[in-house]
Amino acid sequence: MSKQTYNPTTKYHHDKFPKQKQNPPGLQYEMKPVPDCGEKSYQGHQRLEGRKMLVTGGDSGIGRAAAIAYAKEGADVAINYLPAEQKDAEDVAKVIESVGRKAVLIPGDLSSEPFCKKLIEEAHKKLGGLDNLTLVAGKQTAVEDIMQLTTEQIIKTFEINVFSLFWVTKAALGYLKPGSTIITTSSVQAYQPSGNLLDYASTKTAIIAFTRGLAAQLGSKGIRVNCVAPGPVWTPLQICGGQPSEVIPEFGKQTPLKRAGQPVELAGVYVHLASEESSYTTAEVYGVTGGMHIN
Ligand code: NAD
Ligand code: MG
Repeated sequence: MSKQTYNPTTKYHHDKFPKQKQNPPGLQYEMKPVPDCGEKSYQGHQRLEGRKMLVTGGDSGIGRAAAIAYAKEGADVAINYLPAEQKDAEDVAKVIESVGRKAVLIPGDLSSEPFCKKLIEEAHKKLGGLDNLTLVAGKQTAVEDIMQLTTEQIIKTFEINVFSLFWVTKAALGYLKPGSTIITTSSVQAYQPSGNLLDYASTKTAIIAFTRGLAAQLGSKGIRVNCVAPGPVWTPLQICGGQPSEVIPEFGKQTPLKRAGQPVELAGVYVHLASEESSYTTAEVYGVTGGMHIN
């Protein structure tokens, strides 16, 4: 019997969003509506049985959806986030534990190289191994005019979005084995940059070069490296200055599917790229954009 058909334009929230603003990094549980990260809606099929995964930005949004899906697919999961996000992180741990998997919470700031090393050591030790890095954490702060874009912001955005990928990967390589996977997170902004996201869009293009270069370097070791490039997705990032607050009600309406994505709609792609199903896939970028497309 075929499954009930659905309409992608109405499958999730497709009305205007209520106006709202938080200070970064923001708390998902205070958002209206609360994003769907698969707490109830994602169904696993044991595609990552026994794997040990580390997800940065795993407390909320897209990283949270990946972390929850990984656990529902049978993996133990460590998540990294900022200390201010402890409540969101604890909610994720409860979901992971409710499906019988181990959750490890490691708060800390990825813009510090020593912390990136500590993160890997702790994840490896507490998980009892490490098979995957899912690098989702990111900073996005909209600034209309390059003349108002501070050097401090440019450096911070690059430290979090790009430099941390080098630091975390260097710390982890001694532990990764053939069959391990690394997944980075770029954006449609790498391909169609908005005028008010100059620093952010530049980091998202750098992430693609990092992904492809690292895949070339690690292919012979049997370690695959791929990238997910989301379009507009309903997460804390967007209501914490990622977009000017006046555009929040219409967020996502410009896409061919006429609504913002929900984080759970990205989960299947992260699972695919982490699992053996994608064993001949490396150096690729997968777009999940509501139709905005990535080239
Ligand atoms: P989010 O706010 O839920 O996630 C971002 C996370 O980054 C935060 O939860 C926080 O834990 C982490 N973070 C920020 N600064 C950090 C730091 N200094 N140290 C450690 N962690 C830090 O929002 P999201 O939209 O799910 O973002 C996840 C990724 O998706 C980002 O890389 C973002 O660029 C990318 N992305 C999002 C969208 C979108 O529309 N939401 C679109 C394209 C790409
Ligand atoms: Mg968060």
